[in-house]
Amino acid sequence: MEHVEKIIDDKIQGKALVTENKKDNTKKLFIESYGCQMNMNDSEIVAAILDKEGYNTTQVLEEADLVLVNTCSIREKAETSVRKRLQKYNRVKKESNKKMKVGVLGCMAERLKEKFLEEEKIVDLVVGPDAYKDLPNLLEEVYEGRDAVNVILSKEETYGDISPVRLNSNGVSAFVSITRGCDNMCTFCVVPFTRGRERSRDPKSILEEIQSMVDKDFKEITLLGQNVDSFLWFGGGLKKDFKKATEMAQATAVDFSQLLDMCATKFPKTRFRFSTSNPQDMSLDVIHTMAKHKNICKYIHLPVQSGSNAMLNAMNRQHTREEYMELVDNIFKIIPEMSLSQDMIVGFCGETEQDHQDTLALMEYVKYDFGFMFAYSERPGTLAGKKMDDDIPHAVKKRRLQEVIDLQQKHALYRTQQHLGKTEEVLIEGTSKKNPNEWKGRNTQNTVIVFPKKHYKLGDFVNVKVEDCTSATLKGTAVGYSDNN
Ligand code: SF4
Repeated sequence: MEHVEKIIDDKIQGKALVTENKKDNTKKLFIESYGCQMNMNDSEIVAAILDKEGYNTTQVLEEADLVLVNTCSIREKAETSVRKRLQKYNRVKKESNKKMKVGVLGCMAERLKEKFLEEEKIVDLVVGPDAYKDLPNLLEEVYEGRDAVNVILSKEETYGDISPVRLNSNGVSAFVSITRGCDNMCTFCVVPFTRGRERSRDPKSILEEIQSMVDKDFKEITLLGQNVDSFLWFGGGLKKDFKKATEMAQATAVDFSQLLDMCATKFPKTRFRFSTSNPQDMSLDVIHTMAKHKNICKYIHLPVQSGSNAMLNAMNRQHTREEYMELVDNIFKIIPEMSLSQDMIVGFCGETEQDHQDTLALMEYVKYDFGFMFAYSERPGTLAGKKMDDDIPHAVKKRRLQEVIDLQQKHALYRTQQHLGKTEEVLIEGTSKKNPNEWKGRNTQNTVIVFPKKHYKLGDFVNVKVEDCTSATLKGTAVGYSDNN
């Protein structure tokens, strides 16, 4: 799962996550989350597990019995942010909350394991992404004065039997995870080491969770996975064991386009999005299924990482530049109004100026709506970290990154300008950050639109006439409810 930090509001990164509390729960949980949507959804699963142990969530660190930080390990910077937070906890524990216990969850916990306890004395508990169900036992050990660690990666665990407790929810859109882990071994990526092998969740439990959200009047569901295109249900277990499954299991297996079709058909009034896709595993069946259903949003986050075949090869991306461009051509042929976003890494080991120019040329070819662009950050334990030289000087990485960002900005404006004068269906998700008298929502292309509130309310589907735009946001006027409302 290429990192989609920005999609989770900046204001959520590292901010205490809360939900409505239970009267009988007496203990207080302070939980904050870093990184991607999977981590956000995992924090909701952890809140559900601890809710059963009598924990309510709080935003007040000083009153918390238990403080959990769900960590990210995708870049050096992400880990540095977590270490800074641990220093903050340390101060609060010393000054005003001696009873508080501290635990680290997520990818950094999985990467460092027991070492986390040695490196950060404030930490009492280290739990990897597949071991959250063991939290009650681990907490018992902690309250008996012992440090507790569980970083075992699982072959089965999908938390399909846990109904997540929605944290910081707007009551309109929610995440539902469908797969865990990743079998692609991109040389720069820690995810396969921190989240284990691919396994998919039973479609039955996915549909049940969506039903429970629809019953609570949620209007939009984002199906989540490190690599949703790799979704394959054949009765449980690791995807890599599919070939060993019975003929019946193979014949009745459910792949991603079939799951998407099941969701969109069963819940015709609910909007569906998904993240994250992988060009090497994506089949055109998914695009045809998107074309078939109005309620599947016409937006794909399609990471590429580089436009150079030499770099794609060094990154162990199982596709060439040409194959990626052919996929993009087919996507636009089937759904011309599709919106695409990218992930790009500049300054990867051995990247030449020509490789960089190939990346800029690929961006010029696709003209993405938006993107997540980073300079290569060497990760310990990855193949690139072990075997390749992080040889691109910082100044060169910085200059190349700025060129990629500037080009993306130009294309983003080109794409938003395509919406001027059009009337688009928008789902109201909240108040605009910049103007309390305006609603914000997104169209099917995932482009943010702001418009005066009038008599409309949160969760309404409204038609908005687009009158103006910046490279990131459309501005308009609501002209009535959409027929989906
Ligand atoms: S290994 Fe590759 S496909 Fe898998 S999560 Fe990392 S970047 Fe994505």
